[in-house]
Amino acid sequence: MFKPDSIAGNNRNPISNRMRALYGNPCIKLALLFFLVIIIIPTNGILTERILTFTEQVLPRLKDQDLEFVVVCSMDAVGEVHDQIRNYKGAWQKVDKTIESLIALRQGFPNLIIGLKTTILPVNVAQLDDIARYAERRGLFTIISPRIITEGRYLNAEHAAALAFRPKHIEKMIAFFDSERFQWSYHKNRLVDYLRTGTMKKPCTCGYNYFFVRSNGELFLCPLINPSVGNIRQHRMEELFFSKTANRMRRRIGRFPECDSCTEPGLERYALPLEGFSYLSLLFSMKKDSFLKLHHHMGMDKYFA
Ligand code: SF4
Repeated sequence: MFKPDSIAGNNRNPISNRMRALYGNPCIKLALLFFLVIIIIPTNGILTERILTFTEQVLPRLKDQDLEFVVVCSMDAVGEVHDQIRNYKGAWQKVDKTIESLIALRQGFPNLIIGLKTTILPVNVAQLDDIARYAERRGLFTIISPRIITEGRYLNAEHAAALAFRPKHIEKMIAFFDSERFQWSYHKNRLVDYLRTGTMKKPCTCGYNYFFVRSNGELFLCPLINPSVGNIRQHRMEELFFSKTANRMRRRIGRFPECDSCTEPGLERYALPLEGFSYLSLLFSMKKDSFLKLHHHMGMDKYFA
């Protein structure tokens, strides 16, 4: 059984070539591990004991196979605002405990990588510096990005008014992302330009080396855009991925109206090496050392030495 939230390969044919990164809550066939270099598990961090027990079980096996295991904990604020956003009393203490326990585990397992994922909302814009400081002190990577309103993956279109940013929120985000802290982030440059201009400009290779599978089996070329191209419980992945519907949709990738405001943070790592002109132009516009630091910061060196 194989139930990822999303899968990424490093080639135009993600089905027949080696899959390199798996993000989600997977039940993985052991044979598949041979093809992977990294497994990423997102969690809200509330079930501390369960997360730790699972992590303790898999880490030795993954270490033997030279696989990195990444746990990404959702953190919307440091303290009470996190509980308020999650609508769960005690959520902050639980996620904090999970993170501290994982950090203790990391000492024996350098293949355990821990990160924070923060979705910026009007209610937590003022919390961003605290979150970044929390991460820095503990050696955690961060994925901090504004909320996306979509009928796709996040199913939140009816809350658009409550999620709308005011000019003061946008100013605060620009100041945050423009700080020294994000020196090596490709995403922050794209974000700052977007926040200033209102139009996102970035490469996207959804449907080429990336696709998203919802827990009910629906397969999407882009996680943000409906409809799905079919369900993997009823059809083979190859059939869906190379269907006429998928091919039609693939031709519009990067040109949907949604693309103009797409702040999805995780997909650039797949787009940059495949849509090579953007990455090449970065190399030319940066000095070699800076480019290699960015390459490492984005984790590209895991796929391309
Ligand atoms: S740029 Fe467009 S196609 Fe790509 S992830 Fe964003 S919304 Fe989807």
